Amino acid sequence: MDFDAPHGRPESATIEHLNDATLGSVRKQQHRRLAHAACNQARNAFRLQAERGFAQWIEDRVRAARAGL
Ligand SMILES: [Zn+2]
Repeated sequence: MDFDAPHGRPESATIEHLNDATLGSVRKQQHRRLAHAACNQARNAFRLQAERGFAQWIEDRVRAARAGL
């Protein structure tokens, strides 16, 4: 990890929030850790994709249930 790397560079240091506030948890110091910017962004992108996939999965089932009525 390069603490001298400019902010935004893949190898630069970021604070990763292990329990995101959007999930209803309070941000506390112990829920944070250092992560490479690239790792942090990759994890966030993966989580967002998973959430979108889940929302779509729900939507598909709601639509199918309504069509079946
Ligand atoms: Zn890393």
